[in-house]
Amino acid sequence: MESPADPPECLACGTCCFSLLETYVPVSGDDHARLGDDAALLVVFHGNRAFMRMEDGHCAALRVDGAAGSFVCGVYERRPETCRALARGSGACAGERATKQDRPVAALLRARRRDSGTDGAPPV
Ligand code: SF4
Ligand code: SF4
Repeated sequence: MESPADPPECLACGTCCFSLLETYVPVSGDDHARLGDDAALLVVFHGNRAFMRMEDGHCAALRVDGAAGSFVCGVYERRPETCRALARGSGACAGERATKQDRPVAALLRARRRDSGTDGAPPV
């Protein structure tokens, strides 16, 4: 069984990219500049502070691939400093997985239903 000291690969986990908060991932001036053109789509402002846009309960930069069962950060090399600071296998990583691990699992199921066309209205 997986333990806090033996985390899954991030590509198979994705948990720390999930939150119901709209102000989950702060974006500094440097982060914003590093995101380049993608900032227009991925960054939102709350007051005078910037954050990664959230979508379906996770950061909008996260790509949930139902077929592959993977979670890929679409801006990995340019991700904000907050994301860089959360090290796989750290206490924070273990805390994320202990409290939210069901969310990526549910997102994978939603993605698979979407891909198979079974998430829409029932046939009439
Ligand atoms: S850092 Fe930890 S919580 Fe985040 S994706 Fe990687 S294993 Fe999962
Ligand atoms: S920028 Fe990438 S690593 Fe950071 S929360 Fe969004 S998807 Fe996850």
